[in-house]
Formats: sequence, C-alpha cells, structure tokens
Amino acid sequence: MAAKNNCKKARREKQRQNMSDSEEICEDCNKEVSPDDKALVCSLRDNWFHIKCQRVSVADYDFLIKSDDSIQWFCKSCKGASQKVYKMLTLVHKRQDQLKSEIKNLSKNVQDCNGNITDLKANLHSVVSGTVKNILDERHEESVREQFDLL
Ligand SMILES: [Zn+2]
Ligand SMILES: [Zn+2]
Repeated sequence: MAAKNNCKKARREKQRQNMSDSEEICEDCNKEVSPDDKALVCSLRDNWFHIKCQRVSVADYDFLIKSDDSIQWFCKSCKGASQKVYKMLTLVHKRQDQLKSEIKNLSKNVQDCNGNITDLKANLHSVVSGTVKNILDERHEESVREQFDLL
C-alpha cells in the first residue's frame, strides 16, 4: 500500500528536518527532542533518540539523514535484540547442519543394513540349500545301504 510508504517517507523527511509536530521524547533521557537537537528515529519502533544518548557520531548522523530509507538505523536496545535473534538463528542453523549430517549418517547406516540383509539372504540360501543337499545325500546313502541290507 502506498500509505505506508508515504508514512515512511514522511518519517525520514521529519528526521531530515529534525522537526516534530507533536513533542517527541527521547527514550533514553526522557527529555524532549527539540528541532535543534540532532536526533534519530529507530527504524523498528519509531522511537526518537538524541544521537548523544545513543552515542551516534555526528558523521554517522549526517550520513544517516542524507541517506534514503534503504539504510536503516536501529537504537541500541533493538540492535541488542536483533543480535540475540541473530545468535539464536546461528544456533538453529548449526543444529540444522548437525541434524542433516546425522540424517546422512543414518541413511548410510540403513543402506549398510540393507546390504547386510541382502548378504544374509544370499548366505542363508546357500547354507540352507547346502544343508538340504547334505540331508538328501545322507538319505540317499541310507536308502542305498538299506537296499544293500535287504539284498
Ligand atoms: Zn536523549
Ligand atoms: Zn529501537
């Protein structure tokens, strides 16, 4: 929607001129942000801060107010929060990579198991057929012997 964009532009314009229609209060010192003060708006929460309260250098401030909306400024508490989120995301990604390699190992194990089962089946077949052959041979010998005994 265009309205949000306009609002954003207005905010940046306000920041550029450092003017406020209503009284803006710096969240750090709880004092009014007057048009003469160098102040910035947090891109996340739209809160005002004196640059000296946030320890922003005048050079950074000049750069920020000249920039467009593509460059955002976050107050220290938002930056801290976003760093926490970033750390958490890094952990999640790390865990995801671990899980991926675990799954890889597991599927390799399953493949090995399948291979073993195939070998077992083949072995079992030869063992069983060998045993059956032995039994049949013995039977045959016995019957031959019986025939001879009968004679
Ligand atoms: Zn302040
Ligand atoms: Zn903030």
